[in-house]
Amino acid sequence: MVTALAFLLSTAHGFEVRTDELGQALQWQRTTIRYQVNPSGNHGLSKAAVDTLISAASREWTSPVQDSLHFSHDGSTSIQRANHEDGVNVIYFQDEWTQDPSLLAVTYLWSTTNGEVIGFDMALNAEHHKWSTDGREDANDLLNTLSHEFGHVLGIDHSPVIELATMYPTSPLGEVLKRDLFEDDIDAVTHLYAHSENVDAVAAGCSGTGFNPNTLAIWLSIPLIAIRRRTSTA
Ligand SMILES: [Zn+2]
Repeated sequence: MVTALAFLLSTAHGFEVRTDELGQALQWQRTTIRYQVNPSGNHGLSKAAVDTLISAASREWTSPVQDSLHFSHDGSTSIQRANHEDGVNVIYFQDEWTQDPSLLAVTYLWSTTNGEVIGFDMALNAEHHKWSTDGREDANDLLNTLSHEFGHVLGIDHSPVIELATMYPTSPLGEVLKRDLFEDDIDAVTHLYAHSENVDAVAAGCSGTGFNPNTLAIWLSIPLIAIRRRTSTA
């Protein structure tokens, strides 16, 4: 019933929710999502800047649903790959990018067979793209990309038609539009996480049955694609 509702609502809005191979909407059941940051990499930004922007991007998504969901920045790690077995949700820069070079970032989600998201990792492409903190036009604004990727962390898919949305699937150099959530993004996170009592009830039910960690499904999130800024003809 929950999955059907998610489908109907996502059709009515611009946003779309992630579904797994069974068509179930992916959603965290825990109310605090912990992560660690690996600030190393060939990006030229300070550790302080990276940490600050990651925290800012996470708060952007939790502020519309304050009592239902929290992110916890649990310090630094040397982990630098996407792997659920390490037990850590990691945000890291990848100097030797293994995906399509046009991609700015990839967020990986791990979920159980009942659609509960139980882990994520976020890789930022430090090989093919320059990063900045100030929206300058020859680089990609880190907060712009982080805000987009944190939407994927929460199980939100691309919003394919609303160009002002943080979850719009492409991003030109120097863009800062995605730093702040648009109405469509707020609708998405509210739809998934605004009902804290329901989330708690579901979480209690799941822990009562106990999920089998061997039944994990792996989901590769659709990444943010870099596009060239449209050349002005004026
Ligand atoms: Zn994306």
